[in-house]
Amino acid sequence: MDRKRKPVRARERLGEYERKRSPEATNEPYGDDVDPGTGETLVGAFVVHLHDATRRHYDVRIEIGGVLASFAVPRGPSLDPDEKHLAVNTEDHPIEYLDFEDVIPDGQYGAGPMIVWDRGVVLYLEGPAEKEKEAGKLHFELRGMKLRGRWTFVKLAKSVKGNEWLFFKKQDEHARKAKNADVDAAPSGEGPRPIIDAMPCSVLSGLTVDELAHKDTIGARHVAQAKKHGAKALRERAILAPTSSPLVTPHASTPTGEGWVFDPELDGLRVCAIRDDDRVALLLYPTGGGPAEAVESFYPDVVRALRALPATRVVLDGELVAFDASGHPNLALLAHRATRVAKGDILRATTQSPVVLIATDLLVLGDVDVRGVGLEARREILGALLPRVGFVRAAQPLEGELDVVLTACAALGVGGVVAKKKGEPYAASSAWHYASSGLAPRSRAIVDHRAGVRETALRRVTISNRQKIFWPDEGYTKGDLVDYYANVADVLLPYLAARPVILVRYPDGIAGKSFFQWNVPVGMPAWVRTLSLEDESGAERRRGFLVDDAPTLQYIANLACIPLHMLACRMADLTRADFFTLDFDVKQSTLRHAVTLARTLRELLAAIGLVGYPKTSGQSGLHVLVPLGAGHGFDTARGLADVLGRALVDRHPDIATVDRVVGRRGTKVYVDTGQTGPTRAIVAPYSVRAVAGATVSTPLAWDEVTPDLDPRAFTIKTVPARLAKTGDLLAGLLDPKKGPDVAGAVAKLAKLLT
Ligand code: MN
Repeated sequence: MDRKRKPVRARERLGEYERKRSPEATNEPYGDDVDPGTGETLVGAFVVHLHDATRRHYDVRIEIGGVLASFAVPRGPSLDPDEKHLAVNTEDHPIEYLDFEDVIPDGQYGAGPMIVWDRGVVLYLEGPAEKEKEAGKLHFELRGMKLRGRWTFVKLAKSVKGNEWLFFKKQDEHARKAKNADVDAAPSGEGPRPIIDAMPCSVLSGLTVDELAHKDTIGARHVAQAKKHGAKALRERAILAPTSSPLVTPHASTPTGEGWVFDPELDGLRVCAIRDDDRVALLLYPTGGGPAEAVESFYPDVVRALRALPATRVVLDGELVAFDASGHPNLALLAHRATRVAKGDILRATTQSPVVLIATDLLVLGDVDVRGVGLEARREILGALLPRVGFVRAAQPLEGELDVVLTACAALGVGGVVAKKKGEPYAASSAWHYASSGLAPRSRAIVDHRAGVRETALRRVTISNRQKIFWPDEGYTKGDLVDYYANVADVLLPYLAARPVILVRYPDGIAGKSFFQWNVPVGMPAWVRTLSLEDESGAERRRGFLVDDAPTLQYIANLACIPLHMLACRMADLTRADFFTLDFDVKQSTLRHAVTLARTLRELLAAIGLVGYPKTSGQSGLHVLVPLGAGHGFDTARGLADVLGRALVDRHPDIATVDRVVGRRGTKVYVDTGQTGPTRAIVAPYSVRAVAGATVSTPLAWDEVTPDLDPRAFTIKTVPARLAKTGDLLAGLLDPKKGPDVAGAVAKLAKLLT
């Protein structure tokens, strides 16, 4: 083999993946440029998906050279080395697919639900995976949550299509004979079952592949169960952002009498885990009091799993734990993780020392407060909500005589147990005791997130592929885009602050495919905030990003987001618009006519006591933005825009139309008044457009709105210098003191038109 051969770029290896999918129609990740490295993969990540497509199958995906080599295995993995299952080598998938769990929409390639059945590390045992795969055999060790030990893919010499392989377990201590069961017989006496039947659930959401499409129903069922046990409506919102620890502290005294369950002390970190829609927090409370330390940015795998749960709101009491190779909790490994993440290689860190959250209690679920419910019922709900095997899992408490439990703990090297009284509500700390197993106290490793927190506080974003050409005609690069957004951050950010921003990504520049970012990108730093939005039909959830600071702006620029679209409302109230927009679309007309119409609009607005701010759309047209002060309902905002649009057509019937049917517009300017609404986004001021020239949507002074205006003159290369001269010409849009008399304006407008 020619060792000097240039490694194939990961992006090119995703060609078949991209050809099979329409990024705007599927919810699957499209993939970023990944450094293919040296072409010698010895260790990587793996995922096994269970995919209920036309035919149900398992997809075994192992990282090779920055992408996921993928094998469809209809019968799935078996722990019996004699069970050699057919595996069809399919197209390479982007590394982001490690985290993909969703229902692929009808009509798309691979339509149907897909769960993350297993995740972990793959170690190639006989040399670089690239070389092995080419030779038609891959020997590797899996360190997953379900699959462990040595495995093999062997290419079938007689394969007609050339893509047929066999997948099977190698003999080792993790192998099981099928006739003896893959998994030891369940205590319930159900008898032996293969691993795929014994462990059917996702390691992210805990759902089976059949349940995934019914996530909301299942979530509602858990809440109904909690209500049946007496859980009351959640009144105290403070529990979702607690300033002091909401967690019960056990007494250091021996419990007496009957009716206890015991949670073994784990060598981990006790945290309060909170998911409230898109917001996830892992709060660590220092012993002896003090403010919580938010550590979620270190554990994106746990965050991802919390977001996947069939409960949009949940508060858990639990322990963050890293396991060593023999499966024992190891705080030193966790301490290592706390520093590793600071280096920015999140994927590497999460793969090499996975951390899981073991939940011992449930405080909040959906819209109910579970704390008043008795212990056994709380744990029953917790057990139903969380998987036994996964990134967030339910703890398995011990029962029996305290002496027996402690003796068993000592034998296993566990320092003690927390005893919890049956039947008691969560708040009753008198019902919790800590009992030592008598082992000499170990020196606990110190987990110091501070170095990492300092890094996180700096919110460093590493920019990848700066040299990649994004505008082929001009030779402008991704680096030019990132630098432009850094340059204009001070004037741009106030417009985006607390406002949902819709992202469109162009990983290969303006000539390549583009797609809306409706999901949380893999490895997204925890400090990047998002929120779920409904689409126009209310049927689908979309994602808005909150771009409130310069690092977030850099992060999204690095995702190759060229245009930034924003809604006319702020987070605090998504039903109120603080401005409305008239868009003068000149695609079938001329800018000269748009200028005439915009100037007429200015006069109309002045007559009714409103002010309009013009900007270029960044393409060929013009926008006029009209501030509404503290905000008004979208109906009012849209109504004003519509009436003004019709008034413009009345005054200039020869050059203006509000006709929604493109064919009927002729050569008139289309006055689009429909860009204001709870699901409508406009291109933000100072946003770059994904068109030749790298033009920018640029605020204008009214004396620039003349037939001489050249919107193409405002580009990522010219706008920063222009800003230095003109300042932000749109600043008045955001000045609440300039809030207009909207009711007065509506009345005046009615009079003006009659
Ligand atoms: Mn598949």
